[in-house]
Amino acid sequence: MLDHYLTDEQIESFRLKLIEKRDGIINARRLASQDISMEGMKAPDPVDRATQQEQEDGRMALERKDDKTLEEIAFALKNFEDFGYCHECGEEIGYERLVYNPAFTMCVDCKTIEEKKVR
Ligand SMILES: [Zn+2]
Repeated sequence: MLDHYLTDEQIESFRLKLIEKRDGIINARRLASQDISMEGMKAPDPVDRATQQEQEDGRMALERKDDKTLEEIAFALKNFEDFGYCHECGEEIGYERLVYNPAFTMCVDCKTIEEKKVR
């Protein structure tokens, strides 16, 4: 990592942030699954059941988002020797962007292109 635009300290702090974020999601999920098994004990009336369905949908959406975040973090940690550089074009991702989200593995340009492809 010669001439890396980030300092070793910055890189290390980003790595810790990634791990912290990953563990946070995993812990939150463990707690959430405990809540659900508690709720299953109740016999809900139809109104409650509708509410429960809504909550379930919300939870699923959130879980999909978390899954994606976990994937991004795993990817960033796996390719950590290239941390801070765009996975697509090799350009610097930029300190500000990494502060916003250390799991970013693409520069603004490549990310924009990718998001257009998805839509
Ligand atoms: Zn790029």
